[in-house]
Order: sequence, then C-alpha cells, then structure tokens
Amino acid sequence: MEKAAIGIDLGGTNLKGIIMNDKGQGRHLTRVPTEAEKGGAHVLENILVLIEKLIAQEGSKDHISGVGIGTPGFVDDDGTVLGGAENLPGWKGTQIYKPILEKFGLKAIAANDVTVAALAEAKYGAGKGVRNSVCFALGTGIGGGIVIENHLYKGTHGMAGELGHIVVETNGIPCNCGQKGCVERYASATGIVNLAKKLSAEKKGKDETQFTKEVNGNPSAVTSKMVYDFVKKSDPVAMNVNEIACDMLARAVGITLNALSPDRVILGGGVMMAGQVIIDTVSKYTPRYCWPAIWERCEIVIAQLGEDAGVLGSGAMVFEELAIIC
Ligand SMILES: [Zn+2]
Repeated sequence: MEKAAIGIDLGGTNLKGIIMNDKGQGRHLTRVPTEAEKGGAHVLENILVLIEKLIAQEGSKDHISGVGIGTPGFVDDDGTVLGGAENLPGWKGTQIYKPILEKFGLKAIAANDVTVAALAEAKYGAGKGVRNSVCFALGTGIGGGIVIENHLYKGTHGMAGELGHIVVETNGIPCNCGQKGCVERYASATGIVNLAKKLSAEKKGKDETQFTKEVNGNPSAVTSKMVYDFVKKSDPVAMNVNEIACDMLARAVGITLNALSPDRVILGGGVMMAGQVIIDTVSKYTPRYCWPAIWERCEIVIAQLGEDAGVLGSGAMVFEELAIIC
C-alpha cells in the first residue's frame, strides 16, 4: 500500500486531521474539539482520540509512516512544547511524541503551526517548483516559515521563522514579545486596524472621508477587510493605511531577502483576502530595503492553500523527517 502520513493541525478551538500521501493528497478530513480550556494533558488526549479516529477510517496503520502535528508555539527536538502558545493553557511542557509512540507505535514530529503551513505552501502551493521560499502569514499577528533547499528550516529549538517580530521601526509600537516596532504591530490584521483608527482619529472633525467617518463612528467594528473594501473604493485615508502597512512589511521582507535570497516570498493569512493590492504595494517598497541583485531574482506571491495548509504541512513533515527512518 502507498505510504501515508497523518497530518494534524492543532488550533485553539478545533483539532483537524487527515491521512495523506507525499503528493499532498488527503483523505478522511476529521475534526474534534481541542477543549483548550481543560489543559494540556486533555488536549493531548484529544489528539490521541483524533489519531484513533483517522486510523479507524483508514482501516489499517501498517502503511502510515508517522504523525505530524502543527501547534501554536515552539516544540523542542524531543517533542516537548517549549511555550509560546498563549491560547493553550498548560500546553507548555507537554511531551507530545512519547504517548503517540506508546499508544499507536507511530513516530511523531511537531513544529510551529505557521512554520508547517509554510512547508505545505512550498511543497504543494505557491512555492511549488522552487527550492527556497519564505512565508509571511498575516493574521491577528504575523507568523512565518522558511523553506531552504526544499526543507523546512526550524532552527535551534524550533524557533526559526518568527518573521513577525523583525523590528522595522526603532522605538516603534511596543509588542507583546518585549521588543518595540515589530512588523506585526503594523502589518497584521490587528496592526492595520490600529493604523486605521489612528489615522482616522487625526482627521476627526476636519478632512473626514467616508472611511474615517465609519471608523470614528464605530471603532470597535473596524476590520482589515473593511480597510481594504475602502482601498478598493480609492478612499485616500484607507489607501494611506495600506501604504504604511505595506511599507513596514516591505522592510521585513527586505531584511529576509538579504539574509536568505529566496526564489519566492509567499504572503498568506486572513489579511491576504485583500489580494493583489498588497502584493503590488509591498513590491513597490521592498526594493528600498533590499540589495537590487537579490530583489530582481525574487517574486512576491499570494499563498494558495488556505486553511488546508496546516494539515498538509504537518503530514509533509512526516515524509520529510520520519518516512526515511520508518
Ligand atoms: Zn514582537
């Protein structure tokens, strides 16, 4: 039987799993609740339940090479969660690999959820066909992932790819990580919403536009989607928010390009629903922050896999890191 992997995406609300082949074709997509509020040991129990359900649907585990898991936070080489998963109380310190090996006889491999999504994009999505790619996932924060010579680069203790915490502004907006001026303070959905509120407040009572009226009228209802709906209508203040956010993102992209010279930079996450306008604006600013010879040989593209990237990347890790030794 064709070799297969189990791919699991651990989210704050749901655990999602599939069985897949090394071409990224999945089957038996299954969800169980994470029940994060019940603590780390319970989340691990639910992962075991999900694996059991997937194996039952498959009918056999003889051809399964291992279990890949994408999780918030960082995972050390021995499968211990090092932290960085604030939405999963008690998950820090959990040993993931041993219980899976003991219960199912399957090896496991885990990594940061955004990092594994970057691997999926590299293998099956927007990075397919090139060797080196870097992903920026623009969501509530900014996550990242680095694929070098077709392999996921996890760094020591699984902490590589924290591209959202590249500092792009000296003494800039304070970040939860302890630094100031991290790119995610400006170009994540949260950052974009905050910029929209700030710029709109400055226009209050004078040069109001339709956009600033809506933002100032109900600041708590502002979303990055709303900002980009007004960018489409050419509202000057919304367009200015886009320019600032993309300039900041371009600084991080430029630093990344100079360090790694990838073939492609892939932009994904909820903010990228806005699409080409972000690609175009980031592409306009990036040459200011990057060596021209590197910029000329790189392209910035939109992620293709959407929500499936998590499970597919987790499964892909099994083929990459476990399949050979199984
Ligand atoms: Zn930060």
